[in-house]
Amino acid sequence: MPKILTEPQLDFSNVLIRPKRSTMTSRSEINLNRTIDMRCGRKWSGVPIIAANMDTTGTFEVYETLANHGCVTALHKFYTKEDFIEYQSSKVLDPNLFMVSTGISNDDYDRLISIMEVVDCNWICVDIANGYIPRLVEFCKILREKYPNKMIVAGNVATREMVEELIINGMVDVVKIGIGPGSACTTRLKTGVGVPQLSAILDCADAAHGCRGRIIADGGITCPGDMAKAFGAGADFVMMGGQFAGHDQNPGDVIEENGKKMKLFYGMSSKQAMVKHYGKMNNYRSSEGRELKIPYKGDLNNTIEDYLGGVRSTCTYIGAREIKDMAKCTTFLLTNQQLNKHFV
Ligand code: 5GP
Repeated sequence: MPKILTEPQLDFSNVLIRPKRSTMTSRSEINLNRTIDMRCGRKWSGVPIIAANMDTTGTFEVYETLANHGCVTALHKFYTKEDFIEYQSSKVLDPNLFMVSTGISNDDYDRLISIMEVVDCNWICVDIANGYIPRLVEFCKILREKYPNKMIVAGNVATREMVEELIINGMVDVVKIGIGPGSACTTRLKTGVGVPQLSAILDCADAAHGCRGRIIADGGITCPGDMAKAFGAGADFVMMGGQFAGHDQNPGDVIEENGKKMKLFYGMSSKQAMVKHYGKMNNYRSSEGRELKIPYKGDLNNTIEDYLGGVRSTCTYIGAREIKDMAKCTTFLLTNQQLNKHFV
């Protein structure tokens, strides 16, 4: 019989973080760097914010900007071995600050291996839209045998049992969480499937930390406050697509319409992405992504600084000295009005 879970499941907009007495006097006291122990034995250090492996955000240009801030870029899976060789002929990639992304087909595997032969990278991101299929776990296990010391990320899922399965049997270090929250995603509309992202993070972080794993909260961030809520809910890393798109550093031209400057941003399962990369859209699958014209935002440095400033400020409101302390310092309040919309 179909079941109904009656416990409320929450999105970022359903909560606020309650302020607490704090001993901090200035935002400059806050340290946004984290050192994270991974299951594979590696220690990762940096600012735990990641640009999504979408072809509009997971690019070398975005990497160059984010790496200056200590953040990570998950490079998209359409870069070839030759692209990496060419890039490295004049520039250096920091092995901790970018990920090589892959799907789970045999061709994906061969491409990944050939790239890892020419690139010094500590991260592998195994990314499929529906992480609930057994082949993902098998693929990760094979990768773990081949690369015992690499940090392996796998996703996407949004429930605790699959987090545990990927960490324990797939032997991954980090699980990527998010089914349906993405700004260019239409999964919830097309399939009716999804989990509100704040609840998914709370549940999956608890499950992952129980088996020495980590999570990335992926998708649904609309403002720095959402990022702070994701860290407050226990996310070890936060991944963003839409918020890192629309800048000078992102691919595509600026489009002008009715005096407004825009740039194109599209989901990786959208018809646009399928046609671009595979020449067609298979008719047995529906498109679970959309194409958007989003406001042109100028320099990506301004956006990342806005996010880092916002999270620093959250820390001073709740008495957290660093991102690591945010979860234990966070109390969420349920709210039905996050913002004063009087002038909207
Ligand atoms: P955003 O930060 O834009 O809200 O979410 C970014 C995330 O949306 C990506 O990291 C990825 O997990 C997800 N995503 C990207 N493209 C698609 C798509 O076409 N369909 C779905 N369902 N999710 C997508």
